[in-house]
Amino acid sequence: QLAARQHGTLTTCPYCGVGCGVRATVGGDGQVDIAGDESHASNAGRLCVKGSALGETVDLEGRLLHPQMLVENDGRQSMQRVSWDAALDKVAHGFRSIVEQHGPDAVALYVSGQLLTEDYYIANKLMKGYIGSANIDTNSRLCMSSAVAGHKRAFGADLVPVCYEDLELADLVVLVGSNTAWCHPILFQRIARIKETRPQMKLVVIDPRRTATCELADLHLPLKAGSDVWLFNGLLSFLARHDAADAGFVEAHTNGLAAALEAAEADCADLAAVAKSCKLDPQDLLTFYEWFAANEKVVTAFSQGVNQSSSGTDKVNSIINCHLLTGRIGKEGMGPFSITGQPNAMGGREVGGLANMLAAHMELDNPRHRQTVQDFWQAPRMAERPGLKAVDLFQAIEAGRVKAVWIIATNPVVSLPDADQVQRALAKCELVVVSDIIEKTDTNAFAHVLLPAMGWGEKDGTVTSSERRISRQRAFLPAPGEARADWQILCQVAQRMGYAGFDFSAAHQVFDEHARLSAFRNGDAFGLRRMFNLAGLSGLGQAAFDALQPVQWPIVTTASGEKQGTARLFADGRFAHADGKARFVATVPRAPRHATDSEYPLSLNTGRVRDQWHTMTRTGKSPKLADHVPESFVDMHPQDALLYGVREGMLARVASRWGSMVARVQHGGGIARGSIFVPIHWNGQSASDARVGALVNPVVDPVSGEPEFKHTPVLVEEF
Ligand code: SF4
Repeated sequence: QLAARQHGTLTTCPYCGVGCGVRATVGGDGQVDIAGDESHASNAGRLCVKGSALGETVDLEGRLLHPQMLVENDGRQSMQRVSWDAALDKVAHGFRSIVEQHGPDAVALYVSGQLLTEDYYIANKLMKGYIGSANIDTNSRLCMSSAVAGHKRAFGADLVPVCYEDLELADLVVLVGSNTAWCHPILFQRIARIKETRPQMKLVVIDPRRTATCELADLHLPLKAGSDVWLFNGLLSFLARHDAADAGFVEAHTNGLAAALEAAEADCADLAAVAKSCKLDPQDLLTFYEWFAANEKVVTAFSQGVNQSSSGTDKVNSIINCHLLTGRIGKEGMGPFSITGQPNAMGGREVGGLANMLAAHMELDNPRHRQTVQDFWQAPRMAERPGLKAVDLFQAIEAGRVKAVWIIATNPVVSLPDADQVQRALAKCELVVVSDIIEKTDTNAFAHVLLPAMGWGEKDGTVTSSERRISRQRAFLPAPGEARADWQILCQVAQRMGYAGFDFSAAHQVFDEHARLSAFRNGDAFGLRRMFNLAGLSGLGQAAFDALQPVQWPIVTTASGEKQGTARLFADGRFAHADGKARFVATVPRAPRHATDSEYPLSLNTGRVRDQWHTMTRTGKSPKLADHVPESFVDMHPQDALLYGVREGMLARVASRWGSMVARVQHGGGIARGSIFVPIHWNGQSASDARVGALVNPVVDPVSGEPEFKHTPVLVEEF
């Protein structure tokens, strides 16, 4: 505390996946002063407006400070403050008795990319190794799972090949489905600065909306929502026909080109036809294809516009295919780059945060991997098959198959698709436990037990950014009220359930176990070879953990014995498939599952605004951030507004087959005719219920399980 007052504490921003370093200094009056950390490689002292306003979000107003339980008094139920012992006993007893009666798959955890790696690790260990079910999924399912699945198909594991510096070294940066200027502002600033010094560097933005990111673009391709596979299959075919393939690389390091090319050429060999499918100007499309063919150093960075789709995994692979064909991977200034949305979506993936993964990038459906993790944990009851993915999980709760759920650091009543279904599911669920920092949220209203968690600035641990950089989040504030760290709460419940293996007293001990597991049987005679390896970071005591500098995994030991990170993967042309080769994936273009029709004629696109984060439980506290966009809105083309009888500034009802909401009509968001855009942030705690999740169709990608947030047929009418 004293150090934090005098010199500031170096920590990491809790918002987007850029993972900027922050210096937080607690003033004498308790105010928290925020500055960028000049020594952090991700941001070199810069912060965006959200990061800069962090000091305004750490007050205790609205905080959940004590455990609460639903208690019956005189026939009426109400939430009442209880002791930690009573709350933990209730959770442990509730989970244990449901498992005994109905089996391990009758309980579930639903966690979050906001958690620290240590929290995530313990949650996965408890569910997958001790309770014996893989029914633990994360809100990262909603944003990153298509990228994960695409990486696994192409590379053999969920591996991000590039680093931020590659965006600066590239001669062509392609941003697909990413409003980087608003959603990853510091990355965008890095691109903008380089473009200023190297104006010949080209930026192409592929996005149905003309977003703020397009202001810097040399070319904007406003493709039809969901048509990305047509566009990149067309590019693959173009590159093959225009002699842009790296035949040596393809021969030595890949498999599957013939099938991928055949699929691409079936629909996408003709540029005019592709332009028509994507609703693009053929000349613009040709320009993009020619630039891609002509520039060796290309980074194709993609985000939720690619992932959040019923064909999200194919979209990812159609992009990766183009980089494999040209051999543009594993070298400076080139590669496909998945930009993660959340601060620790990557860390969650490292510990097996998704229902189909195991810790340390191992696979749940691989018996050898299961055995490895079970032996390491000495786990009594390993999950034997993948668990329920987010959307399926809440449907299983409504159907009564899952009877207890513990929701940690996320607000699914606002953020999941078909969010009214989530309300119905939680209302029926026998036991709903919620760990949160905020007392009143749309999800907490359904809780039987509320557990107060430590928030940013109070808790200690690690996060991993989009470029595989592990950074410390460090505490500089005392835990308020009775709040505890999430990993600690999970351990205390596990111990009450009678499980050994949860005897941790500090975050560094959890991190050490995580690091040791990544090295366990890695590369030995057991036949496993995993690129995720933190062996160099194992054995850190408290002081070394406190001093840990940001570092990109995998960690390698140099000839002089120094431990150092790795900027880019696959430099040796070796991938993680058993034969060491990457895979082309044959991708067949598919339109979004639900087409618009006369009843629901407009396509709903959802996303972030610049100055808010998720469901606003933190950023909503900052008056400065609220100034940018004070309320929810529906952005639509003026012609469409005229057609559907609404005007700019008036309230309109937006409805789909799944639900409805009310928002104010606005123009000017760069939206094409036939589409509307509604932000994801506003929730049911606002004056009107502005949960756009209630409208979103629950269709998911068949491979990744990621929902189709970027396309739901809707109507807009006068309210
Ligand atoms: Fe935080 Fe992302 Fe802004 Fe960096 S760019 S300060 S990580 S919100």
